[in-house]
Formats: sequence, C-alpha cells, structure tokens
Amino acid sequence: MKKHNFSAGPCILPKEVLKKASEAVINFNNDNLSLIEISHRSKPFVDVIENARSLVLELLGLENKGYKALFLQGGASNQFLMTAYNLLNKKAAYLNTGTWSSKAIKEAKLFGELVEVASSKDKNFNYIPKNYTIPTDVDYFHCTSNNTIYGTQMKSFPETNVPLVCDMSSDIFSRQLDFSKFDLIYAGAQKNMGPAGTTLVVVKEVILGKVERIIPSMLNYQVFIDKESMFNTPPVFAVYTSMLTLEWLKDLGGIEFIEKVNQQKSALLYNEIDRNPLFNGNVAKEDRSHMNATFTLADEKLTEKFNTMWHEANINGLNGHRSVGGYRASMYNALPLYSVQALVDVMQELERTA
Ligand code: PMP
Repeated sequence: MKKHNFSAGPCILPKEVLKKASEAVINFNNDNLSLIEISHRSKPFVDVIENARSLVLELLGLENKGYKALFLQGGASNQFLMTAYNLLNKKAAYLNTGTWSSKAIKEAKLFGELVEVASSKDKNFNYIPKNYTIPTDVDYFHCTSNNTIYGTQMKSFPETNVPLVCDMSSDIFSRQLDFSKFDLIYAGAQKNMGPAGTTLVVVKEVILGKVERIIPSMLNYQVFIDKESMFNTPPVFAVYTSMLTLEWLKDLGGIEFIEKVNQQKSALLYNEIDRNPLFNGNVAKEDRSHMNATFTLADEKLTEKFNTMWHEANINGLNGHRSVGGYRASMYNALPLYSVQALVDVMQELERTA
C-alpha cells in the first residue's frame, strides 16, 4: 500500500497523474515515442503547454483579464530575483513572514530600497503580522501567502493601490481567493501542481515594462510572454505532469471543491492537536495553515515512541523543517482525508499507550 505522504515538497501527487505521466514517458499519445524525447516545438507538446497555461487561468478565474501564465525554471527562488529585476525601480515593500520571505527580501535588496512593512521574526514567525501600512510610493508590495516551514497562512490580503506580488508556492490552487487582486503570482510546481522543475508565474501584463534597467532575456517576463513560454526549451516533463494535475483538479470540481476537502483535512488534524494533551500547536490559531500543520510533543521523552508509531503506520514525511524541529504534516491537494485520519489514529493511540 502506498504510504500516507505528508512530505512538504516535493510531495504527494494524485495517483492517476503519476500513472498517466509514467505512461507518457514510455509512449506519449500512442505515437511510439516518449514525451521526453520529442521536440518541444512539435505540435503534441505545444498543445500540452498551451493547455496547461489555459487551465491555470481558468482554475484561477483569470481568463480574459490581461493575465499571462508562464512555466519557467529556476524554482520559486529564482522568482525572488526575477520579480525585483522586472518590477523594482526604486523602492518596494515586503512583508516578512518567514524564511522564504526573508530570502525574497535579500534578493530584492540588490535592486533598490526595501521597506519591510512588518515582520513576525520576534516570535520565530509563528503568526502573520497585521495592521501594517504599505507606503503609497513603492513599486509593489510582496508577500508570501503560505509559510511552508512555520505553518502559517495569510487569511486576508491588504487593500492597496500598488501592485500586489505574491509567492503562493505552497498553497496555490488550494483555496478560493479573488486572484484578480494580485498582479503577479508565482509558485514552484512541486507542491500542488506537479514535479519539481518548473515554476508557475501568472502576471498581469500591464505591470511590466516600467523599470529603467535592461533585463537579460532569461530573466525577462516579457520575453517569455512574447514567446508563449517557449523562449528556450521548457521543462517538458514537469509541464506535462502539471497539466495532468490541473486537469485532475478541474475534473474534481476545481478550487471550490478542493478547498472544502482541504478544510475537512486541516480541521480533523487541528482538532486533534488541540484536544490531545500530548501535542501542542505552536502557531497563532487564526493564522494556522490549511496546507502545513506544525506541532510538537508536550513531552520530548515520547519522541522515539511517537516516531516509531507513525513510521509503523505507513506514514512518511512528518518531521518538521530542520530549522524549527517538531513535526509538520503537509496536507496538499492530493492527500486524501483517510491519510489525515491515519495520523490522528496514531496520535490517539499514543495518548492511550503513553
Ligand atoms: N517559497 C515558498 C513558500 C516555499 O515553500 C519554497 C520551497 N519550499 C520556496 C519559495 C522555494 O522554492 P524552490 O525550491 O522552488 O526555489
């Protein structure tokens, strides 16, 4: 039986997607060629990338609103740099909610003045700062919607007149938002979308072309828009598998459907964390992530016993990030509710036998 996979990323993908992706590696479209040995300019692959790009806009409700979807490389980490390269003329505002925001800030500082509007570093990023002010004279405001490492998630986004840029790497396609409030969204594929190797960028075209610097082609959004995401060879396997996951999500009923499942899953786990005296949830309750739930044992002496139990229960990927320790259960779109139940069962068994 397949393991209950709580890995933070790369992470669980739907079984049907893995099956179709592996078949395509051997024989794509019944053409007796592999997906990864045909030209990216051939019609079968151009159809794939076009389909993937339009599924992204459809699922996010951004069709015919001036947005372009791009499949780039270099991970979300390259977007820390690329967003600033393309959008930062003089000054930008950033909200610091953890490791990934801090890395984005570090890169953007190479290009201009940075205003850190608020930070939750004072409490090891266990909450989302609120009531901060975004200066009106900045080129954009950047935030991280879900903090994969700490297990916090922004539940609302500031009203602002400056362009809104968001790293949605770990919660894209997981909940309904008014995506048209965002001017640029980026996300590494390897959580809710596909395998590592491609990064999704959704950008409102009108915000581009306003910086004075010359942008190298490989870092220039406009170049990729003009070439329909094919300025150079795209990561064909990652794009194809992402397309399959997007089709899977659409067939299920889209974000509206999956959001309900995600809420059920996280409610099941957080209820147990709150009920069971052996476990502590360490982030502000109102900021708890529906994707990554972090928790610790109340008594560290139970560590070995708990670790043995969840391994024996066929569970994978529960250790917290190396920078925070404890446990982290990542409940991305493809994780079934019964996997969360399996974890809750182990937590209850620990309580009975400790
Ligand atoms: N942002 C967030 C919110 C992430 O969770 C991650 C990776 N876990 C990154 C950025 C960096 O992504 P990548 O490894 O694709 O560069």
